[in-house]
Amino acid sequence: MPELPEVEALAAYLRERAVGHTVERFEVSSFSALKTYDPAPSAVAGLPVTGAGRHGKFLDVTFGEDLHLVVHLARAGWLHYRDAFKSPAPLKPGSGPIAVRVRLDDGSGFDLTEAGTQKSLAAYLVRDPAEVPGVARLGPDALAVDRDQFAERIRGRNGQIKGVLTDQEVLAGIGNAYSDEILHVAKMSPFALTSKLTDEQITTLYEATRQVETDAVTRSVGQKAAELKGEKRAGMRVHARTGLPCPVCGDTVREVSFADKSLQYCATCQTGGKPLADRRLSKLIR
Ligand SMILES: [Zn+2]
Repeated sequence: MPELPEVEALAAYLRERAVGHTVERFEVSSFSALKTYDPAPSAVAGLPVTGAGRHGKFLDVTFGEDLHLVVHLARAGWLHYRDAFKSPAPLKPGSGPIAVRVRLDDGSGFDLTEAGTQKSLAAYLVRDPAEVPGVARLGPDALAVDRDQFAERIRGRNGQIKGVLTDQEVLAGIGNAYSDEILHVAKMSPFALTSKLTDEQITTLYEATRQVETDAVTRSVGQKAAELKGEKRAGMRVHARTGLPCPVCGDTVREVSFADKSLQYCATCQTGGKPLADRRLSKLIR
């Protein structure tokens, strides 16, 4: 799933490539992906692209003065920028992975796509991004808080740090992948309880968050959309590296289930050498 750095990079790419161009056609192929009906998709045609940014992990493309296409790419969604489209024919409804296509006046444009059968990409055409429920609920951006605000947000929610860090209402932008990386850099157990963190641990976690997210933004911005996924994978130390050596200590990266996903960590670096128990699995056995 694209997180803060990838969405930031997609927005930066759109600012460079699409802003200033006029929309020729705004095509919707998957009507289940478009969650709004007013303003109609036809309202976008003829408007210039005037900006691109993000709210947490939501991408926000602005057309004209105040029309926003707000997109949550979900797990398998992506934005593909096309220098040219193969066919001028409009998309057929419900065909293939393309949910939305935006054609610009220079022949280029972009597709919002979603792989797989489970469709959860969500697009909204709104006058105000705050009309999108997921955007309205977002906490402050993970890169916009200082150390004390960070402490207040994290301590304001009781729970395991892995869950609290990825809770978009606590801090916006951190997802499953970079939270694994942040906890590895901070040398903290993903299951540590926020209520028990010392001031020093909060500071370490804050600094690790800034370091991991800022490094990833630096690596990602300037990359083409097509290259971002590889860049993200290449920069990972523990996430999605189960069975591979930890780059810090050489111990084997382990995996444990968490919520409906799994997380990766290094026992030597993060949990005093003790592997975490897989709670879901032990529940099944009992
Ligand atoms: Zn390690």
